[in-house]
Amino acid sequence: MAVRSGQDYIDGLRRNPREVWVAGGRVDQVAADPVFARPVRAIASLYDLQCASEHRDAMTHRDGDGSEPYGTSFLTPRSAADLVKRRQAMTVWAEATFGMLGRSPDFLNTVVMAWAENADFFGRRGAQFPDNVVSYYKYCREHDLFATHAIVNPQTDRSRGSHQHDDQFAHLGVVEETKDGLIVRGAKMLATHGPTADELLVYPQPGIREGEERYVLAFGIPCATKGLRFICREPFDDGTQSVFDHPLGARFEEPDAVCVFDDVLIPWDRVFLYGDVKMGNALFAQASIRNNTGHQTAIRGLAKCRLITGIVVALTRAVKSDVHLHVQQQLGECLAYLPLIEGAILLSEQNAEPTGRGAIRPAYAPLQSLRLLLPRWYERMVQVTQVLAAGGLLISPTEADLRSAVGPDIARYYRGAGVDAEQRIKIFKLAWDATGTQFGQRMLQYERYYAGDPVRVGAAYYADFDVAPLVAMVQRALAGK
Ligand SMILES: Cc1cc2nc3c(=O)[nH]c(=O)nc-3n(C[C@H](O)[C@H](O)[C@H](O)COP(=O)(O)OP(=O)(O)OC[C@H]3O[C@@H](n4cnc5c(N)ncnc54)[C@H](O)[C@@H]3O)c2cc1C
Repeated sequence: MAVRSGQDYIDGLRRNPREVWVAGGRVDQVAADPVFARPVRAIASLYDLQCASEHRDAMTHRDGDGSEPYGTSFLTPRSAADLVKRRQAMTVWAEATFGMLGRSPDFLNTVVMAWAENADFFGRRGAQFPDNVVSYYKYCREHDLFATHAIVNPQTDRSRGSHQHDDQFAHLGVVEETKDGLIVRGAKMLATHGPTADELLVYPQPGIREGEERYVLAFGIPCATKGLRFICREPFDDGTQSVFDHPLGARFEEPDAVCVFDDVLIPWDRVFLYGDVKMGNALFAQASIRNNTGHQTAIRGLAKCRLITGIVVALTRAVKSDVHLHVQQQLGECLAYLPLIEGAILLSEQNAEPTGRGAIRPAYAPLQSLRLLLPRWYERMVQVTQVLAAGGLLISPTEADLRSAVGPDIARYYRGAGVDAEQRIKIFKLAWDATGTQFGQRMLQYERYYAGDPVRVGAAYYADFDVAPLVAMVQRALAGK
């Protein structure tokens, strides 16, 4: 079964009950729980899309050796055409969800693909680890699994390393090595879709210090593993929100959860890296993760920026505030970001670089530019939407009001310029849900932080950039040449 349908994914969740805690209670069967049923449905709809006849060619891939087709986001790019195909497949999922699903399955499919492509990297720790990585990639690909990840330590005390905490297992670390695998204890924050995914990946981020060996870990385990529990943030939607009143939040909420490991056994064949600070710090840069995930997240981010720009255009048109010059100037600014995002994606494909192992990867610089700037542009789009929507952002009545005795008042006083009241209310509700509700605020916070701390992302861009040609240019200018 290399290409799953939505029902296959839901059946898999049913077969694999997990330990999820939400709003004071435990849930094992997430697909049947009102809080998680909609997030599960949203992911299932993506799997259905890859089976739909109109998308099957772009969204699935055959290797040409008679083996089963698999999801395109598992495809290792070896040619420019492969990168285009990956973009086309990712665009289908991004546009279907308006870029609101940050952790759609293509994100981590891309990570395991990039790891397997550079499995040799893991060999520095021991001969068995490249095999583990490649087998895991094949396993995820063949079963078309949905993985999430938790790669950040909880915000306990950011002035200390993990090893400097009083509680040695405040952060996830190895308790002991056994003949069956590693026993790990502690917490990782946070896994979006942790409760509703099939697999959980943990891997180190740069910034690890000497002495933190115990906390350097890369592995992949089922979300239904014994001893692993997910503690969810308060849900925004309990499953009853009206789609009329919350057109995005009632469809696209992604559960976020802290992962607690209560002496969990990580079998040796699921361990990819451990105990090596240098390797832990190098993993992101050397395993092509940033290039490949940068491609996926930029494609997803473009869809989200297109939606929010469309919303602000629609709402200003609904009340004809777009006739004013300064409004047009702000709309123009939002629109101007879109080709820059698209251009950087295409440039990353055009300047794709060989990995030296027969594959190629999208160029790093344009995608890392987007990692740094797209969140700022998105923030600006949110600000423009809120400022131009003004009071209208906050006065929308509910669908129930519309159908009540005050319905005629609403029909009369809420209409726009050539737009009836219901249509105008719907547009402004969409704007509020995208920018103001709990859902909208999470969307903003997600863009700010999903790729790590923006301060360190910016500094790393400087550290990684080849500035020699720029400095040479300055020398030439100084020399008067
Ligand atoms: C909605 C949402 C969804 C997410 N989903 C996922 C997910 O699915 N998987 C996952 O692994 N992660 C996820 N994340 C977490 C994300 O990776 C982190 O938020 C991000 O890496 C920043 O880490 P932090 O939140 O711990 O912030 P911190 O690292 O604590 O930073 C907070 C502030 O303190 C400063 N600071 C703290 N420590 C330092 C330091 N050592 N040096 C310099 N400055 C410092 C930072 O500059 C920043 O301003 C998600 C985050 C959000 C908001």
